[in-house]
Amino acid sequence: MKKLFRILRWGKLTGLHLLLTYMCNAECDHCFLYCSPRLRGTFTTSQIREVLDEAVKIGTIKSIYFEGGEPFLFYPLMLEGIKMARERGFKVGIVTNSYFATSKEDIELWLKPLCELGIADFRTSNDPYHFENEADNPAILTQKTAKKLGLPAAEIHIDKPSVDEKKVQGKGEPVIGGGTMFRGRAVEKLTAGLPQKPWDEFTSCPYEDLESPARVHLDSYGNVHLCQGLNMGNMWETPLSEMVKNYDAGSHPICGPLVKGGPALLAREYNVKHEDQYVDACHFCYLVRLELLDKFPQYLTPKQVYGIE
Ligand code: SF4
Ligand code: SF4
Repeated sequence: MKKLFRILRWGKLTGLHLLLTYMCNAECDHCFLYCSPRLRGTFTTSQIREVLDEAVKIGTIKSIYFEGGEPFLFYPLMLEGIKMARERGFKVGIVTNSYFATSKEDIELWLKPLCELGIADFRTSNDPYHFENEADNPAILTQKTAKKLGLPAAEIHIDKPSVDEKKVQGKGEPVIGGGTMFRGRAVEKLTAGLPQKPWDEFTSCPYEDLESPARVHLDSYGNVHLCQGLNMGNMWETPLSEMVKNYDAGSHPICGPLVKGGPALLAREYNVKHEDQYVDACHFCYLVRLELLDKFPQYLTPKQVYGIE
C-alpha cells in the first residue's frame, strides 16, 4: 500500500528544470538563487544526457526547461541539451533575460537554431528588476523577434514589493503585492520596511507541494531542488529515477516538519532561534534553513543559494 501511495505521489512529477548554471550577467535584487557573474559551473553534455535518460525512466516527465542563471551563457550546451531532450520526446521550455539582444538581426542569430528544434515555451524576463523601461527594452525586442520566427514567446513579470493598505488579508494585515518571493537575495535586499506577521502564524508552505511536487529544479552539482536550496537529494549519488520513486516527504528532515506545520514547526523542531515576526512564510523558512545549513548539508545546499560564496 505504501508503494502505491509513492507511485501516486511521483506521478505528479511532470517537469524537470535544469539550472544550466548559477552564473548570470546580472545580479538582481529579487534573485532567489543568488545568481551573479561571480558564480561558476555548468553541466557537461554527458551529465545532461544522464539526466534525460533518468527522466525517461521516471515515466511521468513531459517537459524539460533550460534556465539558470542565464542559460544562453552556455549556448552550445543549451542547444545540445534541447536537441537531446527533443529526441527523447520531451517538450522544451527556456527562460532567459535577453542579455544577447543587441539588435533584431542579431537576436535572429540566437533564436533561429531554436526554431528548428521545436520549443514549446520561450520566456523572457521583463520587469522593473531587469529593465527600467518596460515598454522598449531587449526583452521586448526578443519577444517580438521570437514571435516573428514562430517561437511561443511569453514574458515573466515580477513587480517590486508594494504594500496595499486597502486590500486586507486574514486578520486585516496589509497585502504585499508584486509577486516577489522572499527567498535568497530577496530576503537580504527587499524585506526591510515591509509589514510583518508573528512567526507562529506561518504554519504551512504556501507555494510548493513538498509531498508530491509537479516539478523539481536540478543543478550541475547534482542537487534536486524541491524549493531553492531545499533538496530531495543528490542525483550524482543516487540515480534520479530511484530518488524520485523512493522520496517520502514525511521522512525528510526538512520537508517533514514543513509539511506538518510549516516554517513555525521547522523552527520548533530544531530549536532554531528566530525573530518575533517575518514578512511571509518563505522569509521565515529561508532564514530558519540558513541556520540549519551545517546540520543538514546534504539537504540544504549549495551554500551559494544562501548567499555564501
Ligand atoms: S533573476 Fe534572472 S537575470 Fe536576475 S540574477 Fe537571477 S538569474 Fe540572473
Ligand atoms: S515556505 Fe519554504 S519550502 Fe515553502 S515555498 Fe516558501 S521557502 Fe519554499
